[in-house]
Amino acid sequence: MSVVADTAAPARPLDTDAVRADFPILSRTVRGGSPLVYLDSGATSQKPRQVLDAARAVYERSNAAAHRGAHLLSEEATDAYEGARADVAAFIGADPGEVVFTRNATEAVNLVAYAMSNAATAGPQAERFRVGSGDEILATELEHHANLVPWQQLCQRTGATLRWIPVTPDGRLEETGLDELITPRTKLVALTAQSNVTGAIPPVAEIAARAHRAGALVIADGAQAVPHHRVDVTTLGADFLVLSAHKMLAPYGIGVLYGRRELLEAMPPFLTGGSMIEVVRMEGSTFLPPPQRFEPGVPSVAEAAGLSAACAYLNALGMDNVEAHEQMLTAHALEALAQIPGLRILGPATVADRGGAVSFTMEGVHPHDLGQVLDERGIAVRTGHHCAWPLHRALGVQASTRASFYVYNTPAEVEALAEGIRAAQRFFSA
Ligand code: PLP
Repeated sequence: MSVVADTAAPARPLDTDAVRADFPILSRTVRGGSPLVYLDSGATSQKPRQVLDAARAVYERSNAAAHRGAHLLSEEATDAYEGARADVAAFIGADPGEVVFTRNATEAVNLVAYAMSNAATAGPQAERFRVGSGDEILATELEHHANLVPWQQLCQRTGATLRWIPVTPDGRLEETGLDELITPRTKLVALTAQSNVTGAIPPVAEIAARAHRAGALVIADGAQAVPHHRVDVTTLGADFLVLSAHKMLAPYGIGVLYGRRELLEAMPPFLTGGSMIEVVRMEGSTFLPPPQRFEPGVPSVAEAAGLSAACAYLNALGMDNVEAHEQMLTAHALEALAQIPGLRILGPATVADRGGAVSFTMEGVHPHDLGQVLDERGIAVRTGHHCAWPLHRALGVQASTRASFYVYNTPAEVEALAEGIRAAQRFFSA
């Protein structure tokens, strides 16, 4: 699997009873007293008590503006924030100076896209980020809108051209035409490390190596990969990696842009204001080195502390065990769903190079209706185009239903999903 660092140790099964006991929300009931079957972690994960406690502790004991005050609370807030940066960096194999906190993965992609258009008026060190007419940005048809629309907009601002790698009928990247698509005109390749719809895991390292040979930069969208696999930036091959904390057991409102140090050092800022400046005069300002250059305003300390606790939680489970657990659930789901007549899985039919997002359509039942029937049984899934409209179009469907798994899900929940789908089928064919 290309996003995953090599490991020798065999996976150990997760103790899901113990894991579930850490998640207060999983003990609540929903519609008509049904137990909650949460199969929507691809949208956002649930949060364990350890993460909630870490975020609350900041507000209860150390609430202050990090990097700004001359008092103890500010010092503690700064330590929590910078400690979280070091923990996230270790989690993805980076140096702390290569980790920029953003609001989410979407903002992290926009940061790079706007830095690239801001490069037009920045100094000579920003030369390599400049794009204009004749240059190309290469995206893929697999992308979430978060890693597509910002590149469309960059092209619109600069006159560059957007091209894309198409998908195969089973929702993987079509790699046969890469030589025509990656050329010396390519300035940047934007690709997902795991599709949020088909679960496909593209060969990021191979594509990145080709892109680098052509002189292009590479940004990988790790929003669906980092929570579920051991991702190490030293083997991933990408220059930039983005992720959202809320999809990996942590709070909302914080995300990460990893960037290779020399790139971040040369890159102009996106958002500007307090805390990112070196010297400010009425005539103009100079900026701090990265990562501070990209983090204007008072930082989200509690959210960062929560993210640090989430990394610790995942490390304690072991990312290889997390991956194996989800692979077991995904295999079970693919097998159970394949037996339902009229159900089409949008994505690879086996777990090879595939993560735990299982999207499907059902003949004669609209995804929204299916979602409603499942919801009545307490089963939470996502319906619609999952912010991947071009991908749905390429696969010839308007919308789909998606089940996505995480550390707290069980085989019994997969079976409840399959039974719920059969019940919907019976209901709508009656
Ligand atoms: N990329 C992928 C693959 C996603 O699945 C998502 C969210 O679903 C995002 C990016 C955007 O994440 P966020 O909305 O947290 O910025």
